[in-house]
Amino acid sequence: MGTKHARSRTGGRTIPSQDVARPSGADGAAEPAPDCTLCPRLVSFRTTNRDIQPDWFNAPVPSFGNGAGRLLIVGLAPGLKGANRTGRPFTGDYAGDLLYATLLKFGFARGDYEARPDDGLKLVDCMITNAVRCVPPENKPTPAEIACCRPFLKNRILASGKLVAILALGRIAHDQTLAALELRKAAFPFSHGAIHAIGGGMTLADSFHCSRYNTNTGRLTPAMFEDVFRDIRNLIDTPCSGN
Ligand code: SF4
Repeated sequence: MGTKHARSRTGGRTIPSQDVARPSGADGAAEPAPDCTLCPRLVSFRTTNRDIQPDWFNAPVPSFGNGAGRLLIVGLAPGLKGANRTGRPFTGDYAGDLLYATLLKFGFARGDYEARPDDGLKLVDCMITNAVRCVPPENKPTPAEIACCRPFLKNRILASGKLVAILALGRIAHDQTLAALELRKAAFPFSHGAIHAIGGGMTLADSFHCSRYNTNTGRLTPAMFEDVFRDIRNLIDTPCSGN
């Protein structure tokens, strides 16, 4: 496989791909068990949360959407009162309001998003997952916890045989996607709006995380987020354009 180049909407720069083969075959679970105990601090946190809020989901949040889709969106971790409460990624907090509205706008979802897991919303050609499946205190997983959950991300990617694009929401999701694919971070620096050709017919797109903090501070505007999805839509509809 020869060197390929990717486009960046933000700067028009090209980002070379590494010579890697698309991974094939899953060798483990893409979803953790509901009682996964690999991260003691996170298990303790969710046990405490269960005591405080017994009606909340309070477990590893499974991926949502079409596992055979061409787009995989990787977030950081469930929000305490969002996905950890509802049991569906990005559902029930501000980040989900922006993400699902944008997915609907660009044809990656259909139905109505009503911030609850039984709202009937369907993802189209797309799946959403998190680099860390359990809610961390203060939304900050430790490096050890991120590494511990990485095999599930890796297996999620391996199990998605038709993937064309992975969208990393934030630097940690970006770094974990590269680590899961055993790609060098230095070869693919995180940059909002960048689209990296990572080989094997896949691209890795970067966006700042759609958190309330990022939008409140103006780091990410809805228009910036839509630009990322416009690029991904074009890339998926005309795959030769990006990889
Ligand atoms: S974060 Fe991942 S590895 Fe750690 S306990 Fe939760 S599901 Fe298991």
